[in-house]
Parts: sequence; C-alpha cells; structure tokens
Amino acid sequence: MRRILVTGGAGFLGSHLVLKLLSNGNHVTVLDDLCTGVRSNVPAGADFIQADVCEPLTGEYDDIYHLACAASPDKYQAQPLQTLRTNFLGTTNVLELARRCRASVLFTSTSEVYGDPQVSPQSEGYWGNVNSFGPRSCYDEGKRVSESLCYSYADCHQVRIRIARIFNTYGPRMAPDDGRVVSNFLVQALRNLPVTIYGDGSQTRSLCYVDDQIRGLLALLQAEGANLEAPANIGNPHEMTVKEIAKAALRICGSSSKLDYRPLPKDDPARRCPDIQRAKDWFGWEPRVSVEEGLQLTADYFRGILN
Ligand code: UDP
Repeated sequence: MRRILVTGGAGFLGSHLVLKLLSNGNHVTVLDDLCTGVRSNVPAGADFIQADVCEPLTGEYDDIYHLACAASPDKYQAQPLQTLRTNFLGTTNVLELARRCRASVLFTSTSEVYGDPQVSPQSEGYWGNVNSFGPRSCYDEGKRVSESLCYSYADCHQVRIRIARIFNTYGPRMAPDDGRVVSNFLVQALRNLPVTIYGDGSQTRSLCYVDDQIRGLLALLQAEGANLEAPANIGNPHEMTVKEIAKAALRICGSSSKLDYRPLPKDDPARRCPDIQRAKDWFGWEPRVSVEEGLQLTADYFRGILN
C-alpha cells in the first residue's frame, strides 16, 4: 500500500484520481483549500486536510500528485495573485515535502505553456508563444515556473519528478458553473438557453475524457526509464472548432438552443491540439473514449444534477 498525497484532490480531476488510487488499494490523503473544489468530491476512504498548498506541508508520503490550482480561465483570472502564489509557493512546498520524504511528484502542467501556439499540433519540444503580460499570464507563467521548479529540484536535489501537460479534459463532476467550454455548452443546451460562443467559434480545442486523462497520469508517474522527467502531453489529438463542439452538445442533448456569439476573450489561443507521440512511446498511453461517447456520459451527469 502506497501513501499518496493528492493536492487539489477535491476538484474535478482530483476526485477521479483519488477514487482510482483508492480502488488500487492505496492510502490517500487529499489536501485542498476548497477554493474551487468541493468537500463532497472527496471520496469516503480518503483522509482530508483543508489547507492552502502555499502553507508549509508536513506528512510522510511515497507519491504526491500535485493538482492544486484553479484551472478554469474564469476562476484563475478572478484571483491572479493567488494563481501565481499557488504555482510558485505551492509547487515549492510540494517539492520541499517530496525532498524531505523522498516521494515522487507528478506535477499537472498544462497545454497553456504553449500559449497561443504558432505550430500545430504542439509537441513537447515546442517552446510556446506565451504573453507574459496579460490576463492568462498568471496561469501560463505560473505553470511554466512550476515546471522550472520541478526541473531544478530534480537537478539539485534528485527529486523524482514527472510532468503531465494536460490538454482540455472534461467529464462527470465538472462544476456546472465552471465557465469552461464543455460545462457551459452542455448546461446551456440542457436548459435550452443560448449557447455562448466566444468569437466566431473557429478557434480549436481537443477534448480528452476524464477516465483517459487519469489513466495517463497514473501511467506517467509509474513509468521508469531515461528522460522521463521531461514533460509529456496528455490529451486527445482529435481537434475540433468551438463551433463544432457547440453543435455536438446540441445534438447530444437534443436541444433547440440558439447559438449566441460573444466577444472573444483576450489572448484566447486560436488552436490547441496535442502531439501525443511521447506518451505513446514512453508509457504506452493514448485516449480510448471518443468525444461523442464522452460528451454523452457528461451530458447524462449534468442532466442528473440539473434535475
Ligand atoms: N468558450 C466559448 N464559450 C464558452 C466557454 C468557452 O466559446 O461559454 C471557448 C473559449 O473562448 C475557448 C474555448 O472555448 O476558445 C475553451 O475554453 P475553456 O474556458 O474551456 O478553456 P481554455 O481551453 O481556453 O483554457
């Protein structure tokens, strides 16, 4: 039985990860300040510590999955200084704890490290096109400095690190008011409210179902071999325009909602699509759940909680 700490374990991804870790027979502790997560997401069987990852961390663990950080643009932009602190101080605290108890760390980075990419698909060797002085920079630069901290703790203190660059992920237990594309579109479609498309809807995203994402994170932390400290993209290479996502949501929900075009937020990336060759080669991962199937499962979940 491994002793595992999951920071941000009361969030959407965290809650799925904790369930999986528990079902694999591990002892799991969740640390979350509930700024975006909810207590009811923490499965029975996990220990729960309500705390900010920016405060010094204690405990004895074998593995640490470091997910703590608001991930929805609406949420991380509402508290930019907290977003920056969570990344710099929070990730430093996690790495210090790992150094002390010789734990492995999986850091959940993001496709946002590529900014508004000028190449597509994005492979890990692409250094990105990030605006350091704008509304998304607290998250993008925060995650970049966290990657840099991971690199430096591995280099200076031999901490065993893994870095997952997570591309848009969705599924049951997303918060309905999260503000992200999948939750907004499905909730609007189910309520027959206008579906809010930002810009002309020609920007692209690539949607990964949560079960696939969690399988990828587990495989990455367990993988052994040379170079595995370098970041690995985990996402679905099936690229769609936002307008196509809207139409899929309407079809799956059997909705008659109208499309409602709104201004495009500043620095909204025009394209996003992962190159997942590294994940395939290094730890044999690729997504299995189609967008059609995943959106259906997610719509069923939202239908349940909206009723
Ligand atoms: N988006 C949209 N309508 C919404 C929510 C999001 O058109 O109601 C667009 C958003 O502008 C972006 C894409 O959908 O181009 C994905 O947005 P999300 O907030 O899910 O995350 P991001 O990938 O931008 O971090």
